[in-house]
Amino acid sequence: MITRLQHIKHRIKKTAEACGRDPEAIRLVVVSKTISADRVKEAIEAGVTDLGENYVQEARNKFNALAAYPASWHFIGHLQSNKAKYAVRLFDLIHSVDTMKLARELHKYSEKINKIQDILIQVNISEENSKSGVYVEDTRDLVKQISLLKHVSIKGLMTMPPFFDAPEKARSYFSALRNLRDRIVDENIPNVCLDELSMGMTGDYEVAIEEGATLVRIGTAIFGKRS
Ligand SMILES: *Cc1c(COP(=O)(O)O)cnc(C)c1O
Repeated sequence: MITRLQHIKHRIKKTAEACGRDPEAIRLVVVSKTISADRVKEAIEAGVTDLGENYVQEARNKFNALAAYPASWHFIGHLQSNKAKYAVRLFDLIHSVDTMKLARELHKYSEKINKIQDILIQVNISEENSKSGVYVEDTRDLVKQISLLKHVSIKGLMTMPPFFDAPEKARSYFSALRNLRDRIVDENIPNVCLDELSMGMTGDYEVAIEEGATLVRIGTAIFGKRS
């Protein structure tokens, strides 16, 4: 695992340099869903600082087991509004906010614990019916509405392109997310910062970096295939 981790970090650095980006501007979120707390601990000891989880209950167990270890926890899965209460206690950044209803719940519970919850807006960039995320044409309005909630803070956008066998095929979706971000930034909405672009996984993170990713979410390439 440590060799694979070093390899991925190296690839991220090389890819950034090759396209003229600062490697420091790209954060590796190591996706630890289904991976045991022991293996996650090993990853933290090997220098991993950011972990991504998809399920609140699973994350809560690991978080408790690893409370003594320094790490930032990211929520990257689909979040049900009725789990918002737990999510605000666990996660530093929630990547998958795509409705006003969910944002309101996050606002409500983060206010209760005196927190400002950092979030990303998940965009359904391929507009497939089956996918989570807000549609491109509705993104700006959602960002505007959420920006009025004082206890959530929008930091950027996230997307998952359709699954492809060839990473190059994902490129247009990544650039579409970046373009959408740039268009919304031009509107200067108060309390909104869209510096972060969470895009790219094991199969396509290099292309995502070339298209501006600041957060890449990688599991399989580090822990191996999930059982
Ligand atoms: C599981 C998952 C990942 C990691 O995928 P790998 O292909 O294992 O790197 C990234 N993002 C999301 C939203 C996921 O659910």
